[in-house]
Amino acid sequence: MNIRIRDIFRILRLKVPVLRSLKVYIFVLMLIIGILPCIILRISILSNYEQRAVSLRQSDMMNQYRIIADHLVNYNYLQDTSSDVINAELEQMSTLYDGRVLVINGNFKVIKDTYSISEGKFMISEEVIRCFKGESTARYDDNNGYIEMTIPISEQIEVDGTKLSAVRGVILASVSTDSIVATMDILNRTALIMQIIMGILMVGIVIFISRMLLRPFNRITEAVREVKDGFTDEPLSVPDYLETEHIVEAFNELLGRMKVIDDSRKDFVSNVSHELKTPMTSIKVLADSLNQQPDVPVELYQEFMQDITEEIERENRIINDLLQLVKMDKTQAQMKVEAVDINALLESTLKRLRPIAKKQDVEIVLECIRPVTAEVDGVKISQIFTNLVENAVKYNKEHGWVKVLLDADHQFFTVEITDSGIGISEEDQKHIFERFYRVDKSHSREIGGTGLGLAITRNAVLLHRGSIKVSSVEGEGTCFTVKIPLTYLK
Ligand code: ADP
Repeated sequence: MNIRIRDIFRILRLKVPVLRSLKVYIFVLMLIIGILPCIILRISILSNYEQRAVSLRQSDMMNQYRIIADHLVNYNYLQDTSSDVINAELEQMSTLYDGRVLVINGNFKVIKDTYSISEGKFMISEEVIRCFKGESTARYDDNNGYIEMTIPISEQIEVDGTKLSAVRGVILASVSTDSIVATMDILNRTALIMQIIMGILMVGIVIFISRMLLRPFNRITEAVREVKDGFTDEPLSVPDYLETEHIVEAFNELLGRMKVIDDSRKDFVSNVSHELKTPMTSIKVLADSLNQQPDVPVELYQEFMQDITEEIERENRIINDLLQLVKMDKTQAQMKVEAVDINALLESTLKRLRPIAKKQDVEIVLECIRPVTAEVDGVKISQIFTNLVENAVKYNKEHGWVKVLLDADHQFFTVEITDSGIGISEEDQKHIFERFYRVDKSHSREIGGTGLGLAITRNAVLLHRGSIKVSSVEGEGTCFTVKIPLTYLK
């Protein structure tokens, strides 16, 4: 049952958006807090009044009838009901309290009824019997609006020198509580009117307060919209509450991050355009100079065509590297993870690169401390090794060397690629992983660099949740250390 009500409430909240509004919650809550005590107060005051009025009336009547009961004994009324004094007294009481009085003798026979209906009849009710035992009773019937009470008519007798009271008869009196009910009606109506006025006032106040309380949140929404619409990209400030401050802080952080991403995107686009344009310009210059000369010697023609081919190759390399970088930027879903023999992978990579190294008179040495098998994307890891070893060869000196060292512990495998090359200054070390960053642009271009190799390498390492570090001394050499977890962590 509980679950069903909760489900209904959940569906309602989904279907009726107003039920999810904080403003509505605050409104309802404050209204309940404001109006509920008024209602409780009204009900408790009225019921208190009723109890008090009834008990006052009861004790008042009880006293009066006790006096009359004494008179009844004195006038011997139970034997002879002809006493005008007593009859007048009973009638007076009946009229005064807008009720009925019955006098019952020891045989349970009604000897006097102020309504003259039950005289001569017998009255054996529980209350009467209890009263004959000496106990006065009083009962309030709020449904029918009367109080009924029994008062014993007792006589003092002396038995063996001790005074006792003997119940000779019973007065059964009922009295209407219409006057109490009428007073209560008036009180109730007045309280209700007051409550309605209070309720209306309360609704106004609550609407005002709930609006005021939520104003900072509206301000956040407006400010965020302004940022979204591009009117401003200034950090927001809504310090009204701690909560709004936290939301705004988080939003400003997000805004800052988005700005960085946007700036880097802009940089990237402008770099890409520039890099792609350079070979194109060279091609155009070469082609134009060929076209402008009427009789180009075949040798010059061949030389220029060779240059044009090289520029096209360069353009091709940049495009390939860019495509690779974009692919790496995508999510983990692109990873083809499998158990890879890292030693074998390194050996085959180096085998491919050795001829190039030989051309530059650079020797490549591989040292494997232990056999390593890791859960990795083989193609991406091979790309990492290729880029790093290629760089170590490219930026080396004559008769230089490249040392590749593979080691592992129980969690990671580490590959260190050390070269005897030109080294990288400390300042440049901070930037070499950025896209299109090259320490010496013309040298890098000469040897076919695109400035994207290390950016691709870093992305591939991060996709494996690994790390890459560089340490270098200018003029002496460089060491790149790649650390990759043996088991792939999603
Ligand atoms: P590139 O395509 O120009 O080689 P990379 O992103 O691979 O681009 O490298 C960025 C720059 O870092 C290179 O231009 C080069 O100046 C420097 N660099 C990279 N590896 C080495 C190395 N082993 N020794 C010296 N400089 C290096």
